[in-house]
Amino acid sequence: MSAKLNPEQERAVQTARGPLLVLAGAGTGKTRVVTFRIAKLIQQGTPPDRILAVTFTNKAAKEMLERVSKLLGKRAKIKPSISTFHSHCVKVLRRNIRRLGYPERFIIYDYGDQESLARQVLRDISVAGESLRPGDLLFHIGAWKSSGLRPADATRIAETDKEHLAAMGYRRYQKALKLAGAVDFDDLLLVTEELFATFPEVRATEAGLFDHLLVDEYQDTNGSQYRIIKALAHDHRNLCVVGDDDQSIYGWRGAEVEHILRFQQDWPDATVIRLEANYRSTEAILTAANTLIAYNTTRYDKVLRPARPGGEKPRIMQFKDENEESRFVVDDIRRNLKLPGMEPRDFAVLFRTKEQPRVFEQELRKQNIPYVMLGSQSFFDRKEVQDILAYIRVLAYPHDEPALRRIINLPARGIAPKTVETLVRHAVAEGKHLWSVMDRPVLGDLKGPAEAAVQGFVNLMKQFRARMQHEPLAGVLRELIAKIQYPKELTRLYPEHEEQQSRLASVEEVVNALAQYAIEAKEPSLVGFLDEVTLGDREFGNNDKEKSLARNAVALLTMHSAKGLEYPHVYMVGMEEGLLPHHRSVAAEGPAIDEERRLCYVGVTRAQERLTLTMALTRMKWGKPRETIPSRFLFEIIGQADNPQRKKARPPGPHVGAKGVKRPSR
Ligand code: ATP
Ligand code: MG
Repeated sequence: MSAKLNPEQERAVQTARGPLLVLAGAGTGKTRVVTFRIAKLIQQGTPPDRILAVTFTNKAAKEMLERVSKLLGKRAKIKPSISTFHSHCVKVLRRNIRRLGYPERFIIYDYGDQESLARQVLRDISVAGESLRPGDLLFHIGAWKSSGLRPADATRIAETDKEHLAAMGYRRYQKALKLAGAVDFDDLLLVTEELFATFPEVRATEAGLFDHLLVDEYQDTNGSQYRIIKALAHDHRNLCVVGDDDQSIYGWRGAEVEHILRFQQDWPDATVIRLEANYRSTEAILTAANTLIAYNTTRYDKVLRPARPGGEKPRIMQFKDENEESRFVVDDIRRNLKLPGMEPRDFAVLFRTKEQPRVFEQELRKQNIPYVMLGSQSFFDRKEVQDILAYIRVLAYPHDEPALRRIINLPARGIAPKTVETLVRHAVAEGKHLWSVMDRPVLGDLKGPAEAAVQGFVNLMKQFRARMQHEPLAGVLRELIAKIQYPKELTRLYPEHEEQQSRLASVEEVVNALAQYAIEAKEPSLVGFLDEVTLGDREFGNNDKEKSLARNAVALLTMHSAKGLEYPHVYMVGMEEGLLPHHRSVAAEGPAIDEERRLCYVGVTRAQERLTLTMALTRMKWGKPRETIPSRFLFEIIGQADNPQRKKARPPGPHVGAKGVKRPSR
């Protein structure tokens, strides 16, 4: 094992007890240290389930678990807990949340649920002259929550009229959430924190479940995460954190890089280890990364040396518009795929915004190259998936009102919007959940057929809920889908045969995922399945063939979700002012630009062999082509931030025009 570690890494792996900080640049093997350390602890006799490791993305967690399993070999039956912060908090909350007055089977609201709640709240507090959109309200709430601010704090610090209105909305929103027995994503952290602060014995019990806590990407912890880590590590003190201040890219969501910089103050007896050799990228790529990041003035100085000398200089390329840009990138991938030993999985295209991939997807499809969109929720955004998940939610938890409203008359079963209104009015008047009002023998002012329809629906759900207690979950779900004639609904909605088939395939995929979950879980339950789905722990693909392709496909992903990953060939596209740096940050200047620069640095340091940076001279905006300005980072990467060309639309380096490719010299 030690043969694959340098002496400093070895020291970090061997320091098994007490607080440990590994503060080091990109690609120096920090994540490798975490995985080897977990393996080492287990080899030295620590039971795997006494180890908790947290990372920031599901993909990273999965990869880490795979790497650890590989190191340990087949013997490992019990696995260490490797998860995201949010997933771990869900487990803590399921065990303890009742103490705070939430149901044990609390619901986790996704963004769609949050939006409808925000809309409802805004209707209740609408004030003449001042208005907020649901998205604005959620933006404010999210910002407050990620800084650990509760409604009372928000009211105190609100300045403008809009902020006051949002603070009022926040208070209502929280109340409504609790009434619904629900939490949103940010709450998973906030409520856990509250739980630990209010009930010291709960904190002690939860902390006592583990002897070791390891945290990857520590530079991106926000206040809640920071306090939860402290609370969990307080007793055993075996806390290992690794990170790189230059890769802190979640400041906009409340992450504070100071947490990593003051680790030694928090834990005075901490061992601090620095790693200096970058094993990932060639020297040429690393030089570009180092040159770029040096333009950030407030940073912690680190040495980053290449372990792989030489290499091809990053290519900077310019195109007429985004179509030519995407065509070039995909052509380039196709050309390279012909070289021996190259596979689709060796390539990644990185974006700043979620809107950019569309043209690349089209082009990849056209050229028949397998690709996968990483970190995207697109599967869950599909209507049919949301529909089926809503059924599962109501089966798991009848009080889940957003889900219940979604399916109450879907497919149509004679429960008209008016009937729903009447039911909701009763529920509000009596302070009860919608389901409780529906679930009683005589409904009063509902007319005969409407009442029968409601009763029919309630009985159907009850019947299937009862069956799920003792029959295989997936089988019962399949029957329910048939019983409500959902496939027929798809035929009605989508006249095209191909569309119907693809929608039906997604429905089938939900059933498959539930079946798979039931095999893997220790104590399968619908609540457990929904937790995994909501948190993105459970992946869906369309079918087995697509799944296996996804494993060997070109990756399309945002720079934010690329953190921690690596690819032989990386394309950073849309290198223009307004995209990278993002226009919001350009307006804010200062620290916001520094964060964009760190994001660019994260992108550059993902590349192992070759890096290509591209831009379009014009880009469509609201249906019209607009001229662009090259990203300042293109100039900084080659150490020419003062280049007078900077404001003109011609970036440095080799160019590709409309008439073909000018090959860069090696
Ligand atoms: P990031 O800052 O991007 O998260 P990191 O510091 O976590 O990077 P790793 O992902 O752990 O770095 O390692 C980067 C690459 O270098 C990986 O491919 C890893 O296998 C390799 N590597 C790390 N240490 C060594 C070593 N001692 N010998 C050979 N290869 C190494
Ligand atoms: Mg890493």
